[in-house]
Amino acid sequence: MTAQIQTMRTVAGIINSIQTLEGEGMLVRRPFPKSTFTDFDPFLLLDEFGPVNVEPGKAKGTPDHPHRGFETVSYILEGCVEHKDSQGNTGKLRTGDVQWMTAGAGVVHSEMPETEFARTGGRIHGLQLWVNLPSQDKMMKPRYQEIPSAKIPTAQTEDGLVKVKVIAGEALGAISSIQTQTPIMYLHFTLQPGAIAVQPVPKEYNAFIYVLDGEGLFGTEKELAGDGQMVLFAQDGEEIAIANSANALSPLDFLLIAGVPLKEPVVRYGPFVMNTEAEIIQAIADYRNGRMGSIDF
Ligand code: FE
Repeated sequence: MTAQIQTMRTVAGIINSIQTLEGEGMLVRRPFPKSTFTDFDPFLLLDEFGPVNVEPGKAKGTPDHPHRGFETVSYILEGCVEHKDSQGNTGKLRTGDVQWMTAGAGVVHSEMPETEFARTGGRIHGLQLWVNLPSQDKMMKPRYQEIPSAKIPTAQTEDGLVKVKVIAGEALGAISSIQTQTPIMYLHFTLQPGAIAVQPVPKEYNAFIYVLDGEGLFGTEKELAGDGQMVLFAQDGEEIAIANSANALSPLDFLLIAGVPLKEPVVRYGPFVMNTEAEIIQAIADYRNGRMGSIDF
């Protein structure tokens, strides 16, 4: 047996977020999609909403709208969002909770501030990731997974300098219970000043990091990236190295997200992501004809 030497991935690029207004006017930072960077197979979109303090009665959400052909993953860092969908699912997502919704053939859902939270106001901060589905799963029966924060595995290094919350995949010996349609890694790391993390990521995965807070050193070249920036890694190794400088004034907080590319044509039109124009036209017709259901409860 020959020893396998693990190789570290290099940084392929650093992407800045654009700021946009979504739904009823929520400020969102979006590293992708944008005109120069439309998707990162199998990922279609990443939105960070907030952090923002909303006054009583002023919280905004996204009322009834459809999805088909992919999965939406919501991760709430602060605040409380109420979800309802045409499959009859309801849920209140609070700080640290995750919702993994596989739209498949079609779901109509609403993502609104929870009534009491809307009344009192408060801090809102969260993320939404869109994960593409392979063509054979685009018309699958919708699936809804809601994982309260307490059930999401966490782990830390012996010295406590590196902490991770394992939303999907595996890190520092902790394994997520989420079912994903294709292999996906979704890890929320926090590194104290002076900490170094090395995360195994299989070579066939596309991988990126999105920085939530602080500034870090990424990859073999120790490239600098901070709050609101996305770090793309080349598919040239089996490990990703991240460091927070010993001189840093604050912890480094980031998401490491990775998945196996589908390598299929992507045709997107708003909330529908399919493989062909004809499938998009069909999706629009199916939605208009009520075949994705409605929320009437
Ligand atoms: Fe949605």
